[in-house]
Amino acid sequence: MVYILFIAITVISYLVQHSLQNKFKIYSQEALDVPMTGRDVATKFLQDNGINNVNVTSVSGQLTDHYNPANGTVNLSDVVFSVNSVAAAAVAAHECGHALQHAQGYSFIKMRTALVPVVSFASQWITWVLLAGILLIEVFPMVMLVGICLFALTTLFSLITLPVEVDASRRAVAWLEKSGITSGIKTEHAKDALHAAAYTYVVAALSSLATLMYYVMIFMGRRR
Ligand SMILES: [Zn+2]
Repeated sequence: MVYILFIAITVISYLVQHSLQNKFKIYSQEALDVPMTGRDVATKFLQDNGINNVNVTSVSGQLTDHYNPANGTVNLSDVVFSVNSVAAAAVAAHECGHALQHAQGYSFIKMRTALVPVVSFASQWITWVLLAGILLIEVFPMVMLVGICLFALTTLFSLITLPVEVDASRRAVAWLEKSGITSGIKTEHAKDALHAAAYTYVVAALSSLATLMYYVMIFMGRRR
């Protein structure tokens, strides 16, 4: 039963990734009605929202776009930074949406940021603690329980990520439309690209939840 669930999640994960890449390919070829690159879009978003302490920079790689609250930068990949397309505008506005969440003290992003050091600590130990926990389950069940708690922190993190991502996309699409950068069908396409990206976070959260359940089942199943 559990294995079927894991196989299903793996297949869904593949399909979601594939659909995301497909949509980005299509919307990357659709030019905006205004002559603006992702960088221009990001700069205007920050200006329009009165955010003066965040810089827009470029980062190498594909789909590596992210907002870094530690040094106040919106990092855009090459195909977003210097390109005029619906996909580039959507991604640039989405990442700036995170900067706006920070500026406004949006509760879920505050929780997410607070969890970052905890989760990075947990990630370093999870594999070893769970491995030891499974080996020692009949003698020291506490080890497994500690491993489950560490894993639960990462699951919580991936669940908190969901509202943060959906909210950033909502802010992005609303602003793109309001600022006149997209309208009509192009706004719909920007929304569609961001929805496709959001599904990858949903699948990641489901996968984490299923793995957590699996460890809990092993723990509950010890000694009958
Ligand atoms: Zn995001």
